[in-house]
Amino acid sequence: MGEILVLAESKEGSLEKPTLELIHAAKGIASDLGVGTAALLLGDSITELSNEIAGYGLDKVYMLENSLFKDFIGDVWVAAIEQVCKNLNPDAVLISHSDIGREIAPRLAYRLNSIATTDCISLSVNQDDKTIIKNKPIYGGNAIAVLKSLKQPEIITLRKNCFPLAEASSDKSEIVELPVEISQDIVKVEILERKQVDTVELDKAEVIISGGRGIASDEDFKMLEQLADLIKKAGANAMVGCSRPIVDMGWMSSDHQVGLTGTMVAPGIYLAIGISGAIQHLVGMVRSKKIIAINTDPGCNMLKVADYGLVDDYTEIIPHLIKKMEELS
Ligand SMILES: Cc1cc2nc3c(=O)[nH]c(=O)nc-3n(C[C@H](O)[C@H](O)[C@H](O)COP(=O)(O)OP(=O)(O)OC[C@H]3O[C@@H](n4cnc5c(N)ncnc54)[C@H](O)[C@@H]3O)c2cc1C
Repeated sequence: MGEILVLAESKEGSLEKPTLELIHAAKGIASDLGVGTAALLLGDSITELSNEIAGYGLDKVYMLENSLFKDFIGDVWVAAIEQVCKNLNPDAVLISHSDIGREIAPRLAYRLNSIATTDCISLSVNQDDKTIIKNKPIYGGNAIAVLKSLKQPEIITLRKNCFPLAEASSDKSEIVELPVEISQDIVKVEILERKQVDTVELDKAEVIISGGRGIASDEDFKMLEQLADLIKKAGANAMVGCSRPIVDMGWMSSDHQVGLTGTMVAPGIYLAIGISGAIQHLVGMVRSKKIIAINTDPGCNMLKVADYGLVDDYTEIIPHLIKKMEELS
């Protein structure tokens, strides 16, 4: 029986959220294809992490333990995953479209004489020929390509926040330790220094306060930041997001942009202030659990998708919200 293999990613001993999305996607297509599922975990001292992944109902968890896998080194990881793929011959390898995934996927596909399809936003199975159908935005998001690969194992990267998270399962996976031949000699790039860059990781926010072209000035954006800070003080991880015109005007950096060409998010609460709800914005946030819209136009799209809507000028509402949060803190 074939297998869909998920490349697990972790940070400081915890599973990265996109890995749970990969697991969910893998289970869906594996069940339609009638094949098995497995996760591949590389690292140093990863017994605990392997046990954690084993709780998500995959058939197997493959463990590759070596001190060389402690930090991500592309040369080493690609060589190790290549060995695993040549031994196991999976139907497909699902990888997050993360920094790590973007480096691994094309290199791995080249070494396996196969094909990488990157940045996919949905997957399905064509039951006629049992191939995996992949959808990905192209031409800057103006069209969606529908693709199938004619070679295996196909390498697929999935955009973050486009798939639901896998839920814990009582069916524990079998954990298999795989041998791997790897040495420092294959490292062609030496990492001299790792620098922590201050970027906003919107996909990690529990609450996003997002502003659009309806916000009159970059000064007014400070109100949104103040509100986010107060929510943070109250204990929720709140961040400021925005629509694309705000980035184009230079009021916010691009890591704040939500949408098709920004970050796809699915926070607990998404507060959309002065955002009309263009399709390119909506696809990036419509999976938020609760959407609250503040907009002067009662007919705008954002109010149609919102769970709660306030048809009003934001300058009438945000200062009151800030005052209320200050009173509560
Ligand atoms: C290929 C492509 C990719 C794109 N990718 C993205 C993307 O990733 N993310 C993205 O956001 N956009 C993207 N866009 C742009 C997108 O099409 C829209 O132009 C953009 O989302 C509109 O932003 P907005 O809603 O802030 O502005 P507008 O559409 O101008 O809406 C402003 C809103 O503010 C309201 N408003 C005005 N004054 C007030 C007030 N005082 N109080 C309350 N409400 C008020 C108005 O009623 C209106 O609804 C993309 C476009 C293309 C072509």
